[in-house]
Amino acid sequence: MAKLTVKDLKVQGKRVLVRVDYNVPMEDQNGQMVINDATRIKETLPTLEYLIQQGAKIILMAHLGRPKGQREPSMSLRPVAAKLADMLGANVAFVDDCIGEKVEKTVSLLQPGDVLLLENVRYYNEEEANDPVFAEKLARLGDLYVNDAFGAAHRAHASTEGVARFIAQRGGQCAAGLLMERELKFLGDELENPARPFVVILGGAKVSDKIKVIDRLLEKADTLLIGGAMAYTFKLALGFQVGKSLVEADKTDIAKAALEKAKARGVQLLLPVDNTVATPFKTDKLNKKGKPVIELRNERPLSEPNIPDTEEGVDIGPASILAFGDILRQAKTILWNGPMGIFEDPRFAVGTFAVARVVAEATQKNGAKSIIGGGDSVKAINNAGLGDQVTFMSTGGGASLEFLEGKVLPGVAALSEA
Ligand code: AMP
Repeated sequence: MAKLTVKDLKVQGKRVLVRVDYNVPMEDQNGQMVINDATRIKETLPTLEYLIQQGAKIILMAHLGRPKGQREPSMSLRPVAAKLADMLGANVAFVDDCIGEKVEKTVSLLQPGDVLLLENVRYYNEEEANDPVFAEKLARLGDLYVNDAFGAAHRAHASTEGVARFIAQRGGQCAAGLLMERELKFLGDELENPARPFVVILGGAKVSDKIKVIDRLLEKADTLLIGGAMAYTFKLALGFQVGKSLVEADKTDIAKAALEKAKARGVQLLLPVDNTVATPFKTDKLNKKGKPVIELRNERPLSEPNIPDTEEGVDIGPASILAFGDILRQAKTILWNGPMGIFEDPRFAVGTFAVARVVAEATQKNGAKSIIGGGDSVKAINNAGLGDQVTFMSTGGGASLEFLEGKVLPGVAALSEA
């Protein structure tokens, strides 16, 4: 159902409570928390610049880390306020709480165009519990509500769901921010009636994490390409040997069901025809849990589809890279979620980077629409320097997956209908 967006609201002089995703990676440098990657802050700038220009009084709510209801100083949003001010080129006020008299007083002093960031909402356990008393206290701070935190929309928390209900009850409108609007467009509307062929490429660790996505996409896609460790569960289901590869031996039934559904619907489901394998080797070193560190040595391509007992599949092989590439070059719509191998190790990142390059090429040369469904695939595209050569990269991890599964996200459901 279509939702209001921030552009539908009359915000001039109004207190607009905006939920943003500022859960940024931080690092302690000589006792100071420093932001390692400000991408999430950058993603909110269009909505904030629009609201400033329209003369809204902007109150930002966000969470950082998992302080579990404690005022954990290393998880304060104060450094984010400074960074945001830098990036916006405007003042950003900060208040060291998110509810209560002091916060209400600060909000009452805001002028049109002012920006105020509240302290981490997760300093209160009531946030994750979606406690109505807490949500009502947040709701007192705004006349209107905007949710631009797609990455947190799959959780029914006070700042993503409860607060919207209170604002709506009082007659205030609740709308999607510009980032949220783009996420809903690309992961939702664009995939409802995709230009064809529509090719989905899925990878990552576990079939069980993605089976609902697979199931839903089998109803929409023309071709499904499967890589990563999850391919080994499919291979096992088909009777191949997978050696020491990461596999969910108890999940072959769901892999079989997916294969059958693909066949019944005439969807092409392709698995890797070859692999890069390596030999796991137990070293004398111990990990944090006191277990021996396993090193992967002697990596090499293996064209034989059966992986010997001593070997582990760590990436798709060269023939699979070519086969997947050929299909992706024909595609008019591409959705990609999950790496093709253990891409954190450069030796096993070849397949993932090859896919990243071909997705970018299909977008630039063939006019395919390419949608990167969050998480590790976004990392891979960015590491390959191809971030500006794909159509859309989702900012959500868990939220993107749940949305692709067809679930209604509580943070989206709470927004007013257009
Ligand atoms: P996911 O969060 O399900 O998308 O999984 C991402 C993780 O899957 C990454 O950390 C990869 O290292 C891992 N992965 C991908 N392929 C393999 C593989 N062949 N063996 C072990 N782990 C893999």
